[in-house]
Amino acid sequence: MNYQSILEEIKEEVYPYLREGKVANYIPALANVNPEQFAMTLTMFDGRQYSVGQADTLFSIQSISKVFTFTLALKHYGLELYERIGREPSGNPFNSLVQLEYESGKPRNPFINAGAINVTDVLLTYFKSSTSTSKKILDFMHAIADDTSIAFNDIVAESEMEHGFRNLALANLMKSFNNFDNDVMEVIKIYFQHCSIEMNTKMLSRSMLYLANHGVDPITGKTYITSQQAKRINAVMLTCGHYDASGDFAFHVGLPGKSGVGGGIVAVVPKMMGIAVWAPALNAQGNSLVGTKALELFTSKTGLSIF
Ligand code: GLU
Repeated sequence: MNYQSILEEIKEEVYPYLREGKVANYIPALANVNPEQFAMTLTMFDGRQYSVGQADTLFSIQSISKVFTFTLALKHYGLELYERIGREPSGNPFNSLVQLEYESGKPRNPFINAGAINVTDVLLTYFKSSTSTSKKILDFMHAIADDTSIAFNDIVAESEMEHGFRNLALANLMKSFNNFDNDVMEVIKIYFQHCSIEMNTKMLSRSMLYLANHGVDPITGKTYITSQQAKRINAVMLTCGHYDASGDFAFHVGLPGKSGVGGGIVAVVPKMMGIAVWAPALNAQGNSLVGTKALELFTSKTGLSIF
């Protein structure tokens, strides 16, 4: 298959839509990003990459980081993790408080904010200090993307901290139900830090390979998690990766994927490749509008969906 020309076609077809949707403005440091940007990269199991658009431009990965923190928590806690965090789609917005209240402080899944904040809390308990938790998260990113230049963006993290009322409310609610170990402020700071990680589509698609290959990096041969854990992360990405638009994403794209409000989306074609796409303007559910469209075009043109 000529992946490069398929990507070029997709770029042509999505360009007219780049002005639709809205850049996330509830994080002031992200509000000024130019919406007319697009990038898409495929990384194959032998390391070959196909890219189109601004594939070298770094952007805020935001909630895509939830895939990586969930991986680390699952690796260290195994099934015990599900006592604190569920694995059902929420059908609610990413930062909703209502469901968390009537479900007694147990988040529906690790990919909504409450679930990811709880995962960060679990990691802090495991790694014992903020510094070592942040470092372990970054070390993991460096390993799976095979790139040690990946870093937090402190300006974005601080900007989010100043407006993080809802995320603090979610953490406090979980604490009130005794489903939280550590100091709320300390956990939220680490959570915002991992959301602020900057990567480009080349790095992100590379970082998906361990999930496309049953937990083992096909290039380095390094095992990160068991194949059963990888299967489960993919399943949760498919069912919960796009908040209250997860069903729609599965319907239109048909691949496990995870979005972030920075406009990035990662997706996995099992046994074949990792994909990352970036276009900053979002749809009403907080997922990249053009990114979703591009992935839908990709699976339609190539037939590479899991269904
Ligand atoms: N840092 C963002 C928040 O907590 C992540 C949301 C997202 O990317 O969907 O609100």
